[in-house]
Amino acid sequence: MDKSALIPWRDVHTWSCTACGKCCVGYHVPLKMDEYVRVAKIYGYDAFDFGLGRVYLKHSFNGRCIFQHPSQGRWVCELQGIKPLACKLFPFRIHSKPVYSRGDRSEYVSNGQTLYIYLDPDCEGIVSGKPGERFLKQILPEVVQIGLGQRWKQKFTTSKYLSWTAP
Ligand code: SF4
Ligand code: SF4
Repeated sequence: MDKSALIPWRDVHTWSCTACGKCCVGYHVPLKMDEYVRVAKIYGYDAFDFGLGRVYLKHSFNGRCIFQHPSQGRWVCELQGIKPLACKLFPFRIHSKPVYSRGDRSEYVSNGQTLYIYLDPDCEGIVSGKPGERFLKQILPEVVQIGLGQRWKQKFTTSKYLSWTAP
């Protein structure tokens, strides 16, 4: 994507995941070693695509992650409890430098650490505007904690449509 299209967090009023499912189609999710092991233990090696020294979650023929399933008109993730970090963070991107344009509007200080946070405009859950209270006090802090490895569980940064039962 064109990186200049990324939205700095200061231009976002709020965000919530509507479980539209768009981000699980086309994106190839790379796994860290511990994520790979966790998924492989349950689903075996057929759950992955391998390429260029990296491991990815497998896509089905239509480009959709094999762990995404339809439910009540929305899409839910079967890996909810062991979801890879890249999935947990989408549509947020956390950087240590303002690597894209408009760095001034992306600066975020957390416990004395300066970060630069952007959102991917492909996500339909973004509401533009002045940052609102829920976004500032609940969503952004949770995103940062997850991104920095200080928190595992998602409370505010995932969809309400969480249940999927294997047929
Ligand atoms: S993160 Fe955004 S694109 Fe992905 S399912 Fe939620 S609303 Fe849709
Ligand atoms: S693991 Fe879940 S969130 Fe990640 S791409 Fe697959 S279905 Fe989407």
